[in-house]
Amino acid sequence: MLRVVVLGAAAGGGVPQWNCGCPVCRAARSEHPELQSTQASIAVSADGDHWYLINASPDLRQQLIATPQLHPGAGQLRHSPISGVILTNGEIDAVAGLLSMREGWPFTIYAHARVLSILKASSIFNVLSEKNVRRQPIELDETFEPALPDGAPSGLEITPFAAPGKSAWSLEGSAHPAGRDGDGDTLGLRIGDTASGKYFYFLAACAHVTDDLKSRLAGAPLIFFDGTVWRDDELIAAGLGNKTGQGMGHMAMSGDHGAIKALANLGIERKIFLHINNSNPVLLRDSAERTIAERAGWQIAADGTEITL
Ligand SMILES: [Zn+2]
Repeated sequence: MLRVVVLGAAAGGGVPQWNCGCPVCRAARSEHPELQSTQASIAVSADGDHWYLINASPDLRQQLIATPQLHPGAGQLRHSPISGVILTNGEIDAVAGLLSMREGWPFTIYAHARVLSILKASSIFNVLSEKNVRRQPIELDETFEPALPDGAPSGLEITPFAAPGKSAWSLEGSAHPAGRDGDGDTLGLRIGDTASGKYFYFLAACAHVTDDLKSRLAGAPLIFFDGTVWRDDELIAAGLGNKTGQGMGHMAMSGDHGAIKALANLGIERKIFLHINNSNPVLLRDSAERTIAERAGWQIAADGTEITL
């Protein structure tokens, strides 16, 4: 059985974002606390006892407190059900939470060599001693099975693939520690249960849907997909910033080149938008945008959502 918990549904900054006075952030601080959401991450398990995080957001500590499945086992002085963290990119939003996992519990970080090179280039991450916290490089299009702490198989099979995207923000204007060329900075994941064969896809960042990606996702039982912005120029139109969705490596939900249209009619059973920016009007339950997304068969992820496949 494949168990998934949405630890956080929001894009970078969360909802509300500390310095944002947009309508969604204002509502989340006042009359609509249910809009509050932490930064995107999910936890997945095949046995219900050992869990793997997909990305470690800056809100990880809060997310772990809110998720009983990830609390230390009963009667154990030092314990965590977390056996590993799989990183899909090297953005601060995906890796900063690792720093909250520094109290000596052994686990493995699975990431592409390009992302591991970003961790290695920052001395702060040395706090996760390689003796306790193994770094395991993963390759594009090569399925791997994360191991349990005792080396036994986890029952999960994970296939990373290149997602159309961009390099990490923190590297803008400076050299990538792994060099200029090559895929691996932004991954999509196919996550399956070896026993049942059930699977889902996780793509928290995707700049556009290629034909290759369409055929990969066709017929999937479940996808989590990049829901950062409703429209490409949303941040500019709202006076919140000067970057387009595309400029940040995220395709819009709406429009002729948006995710709703691109992923229609592919026989995907359940479609969930994740990594939703606080500028996105789809977050407001009575918005026209929310109605359009839901009528098109999409669900908007919320923190704490649990799914069993
Ligand atoms: Zn805001």
